[in-house]
Amino acid sequence: MADKLTAVKGMNDIAPPASAHWEWLEDKLRGLMRRYGYRNLRTPIVEPTALFVRGLGEVTDIVEKEMYSFEDRLNGEHLTLRPENTAGVVRAALEHSMLYDGPKRLYYMGPMFRHERPQRGRYRQFHQFGAEALGFAGPDVDAELIVLAFDLWAELGLEAIELEINSLGQPPERLAHRRALIAYLEAHADQLDEEARRRLHSNPLRILDTKNPSMQSLVNAAPRLMDHLGDESLDHFNRLRGLLDAHGIAYRVNPRLVRGMDYYNLSVFEFVTLQLGSQGTVCAGGRYDGLFEQMGGKAAPAVGWALGMERILELLKEQGKLPQQPVPDAYAVVPEAARVPEVMPVLRALRREGVSVQMHAGGPEGMGSMKSQFKKADASGARHALIFGEQEMQQGNVAIKPLRGPRTSGVGDSTEAAQTLMPLTAVAEWAARLRQH
Ligand code: ATP
Ligand code: MG
Repeated sequence: MADKLTAVKGMNDIAPPASAHWEWLEDKLRGLMRRYGYRNLRTPIVEPTALFVRGLGEVTDIVEKEMYSFEDRLNGEHLTLRPENTAGVVRAALEHSMLYDGPKRLYYMGPMFRHERPQRGRYRQFHQFGAEALGFAGPDVDAELIVLAFDLWAELGLEAIELEINSLGQPPERLAHRRALIAYLEAHADQLDEEARRRLHSNPLRILDTKNPSMQSLVNAAPRLMDHLGDESLDHFNRLRGLLDAHGIAYRVNPRLVRGMDYYNLSVFEFVTLQLGSQGTVCAGGRYDGLFEQMGGKAAPAVGWALGMERILELLKEQGKLPQQPVPDAYAVVPEAARVPEVMPVLRALRREGVSVQMHAGGPEGMGSMKSQFKKADASGARHALIFGEQEMQQGNVAIKPLRGPRTSGVGDSTEAAQTLMPLTAVAEWAARLRQH
């Protein structure tokens, strides 16, 4: 027998019942985006490899070791499954001159791919939802994006998510800091791990982001970027802080927050929770005023964030905030197979009125006993059974039997409740009635 085919390690199927949680989260996100005036952008999942190398920077975790890159067999093009989507959004904005008539607020959602060690909250195919404000210099939109995220946590019922912010200043300020940092790290070269030594001259800022516990005291005492910021950068940062204060939003300034991608400047921020172990960053972002130019376009300021949808769902589960599974309004019990040709159009009419109805589907042997049909009706979670019995139908009616109390308590707790008859022609009235309960 052939080997069993399974999904690629670190890439998951999303099936019921979990898929209902995803749809619920997606609906919440879309609703919030509409209220904030962000519009949907969908870019390809495969992009030229050069987009990420140029956009994210060569000396980043993603570009160095996490990308799924391959050569197109037919034309030799170098392609990559997108590991993130800010670079793709900027590419699309440039390609279609989206900013010609002013700035744009955009959002995206979809799968991203990174070759990492799979573990809780870390997958090889994972899903991000991102918001990007293109053409805005801030700091008002920076604050808007952060407030938006807080509104999302509130709407989802999530607690215990904390905001950390920092400013990365502008390139010349980072350069001055970089020099001071390299000098400091060189003076303590014996305490650097292999990765840090490798990055010492290529990307020393990233060393501050190390997860190696034995280097923590070293990086804690390192020269701080904040101390190298000029007046304009400080002013941008302080105005952002003022806007957050005006919303009563609590945050912690974390001078070591640097973010993984090279493209960030000024505001950077992360939303973190202690409830997901070491994969505690649920949402992260910042300003990337240099990226448009770096990608060969006309300079434009921009800011955005991306959240990890798996991590949000895991946190919802941790906090008991996942929604209940959707159930049909009604389940159609059909004692005689001969009635199916009349029943199906009635159910269709009901659905067109907005009612969700599951039909009992039989097989060549018939529809099964009433008892087994009612068992299925109960298991479906439907609040009502529609019974298309011989007698009722001959009189032009269907019987409606409540299976559960209004807005559902336990299964079968009101199965003794009275049946009522409804005329088969009064579909709109049933629909209204079923919706009421
Ligand atoms: P981490 O430090 O956890 O690796 P990151 O800095 O690489 O995160 P970003 O590139 O900023 O993450 O992506 C934004 C968000 O996407 C993260 O905060 C996280 O919630 C989510 N995310 C990133 N990588 C993964 C992954 N491999 N699996 C699941 N979610 C992820
Ligand atoms: Mg990462």
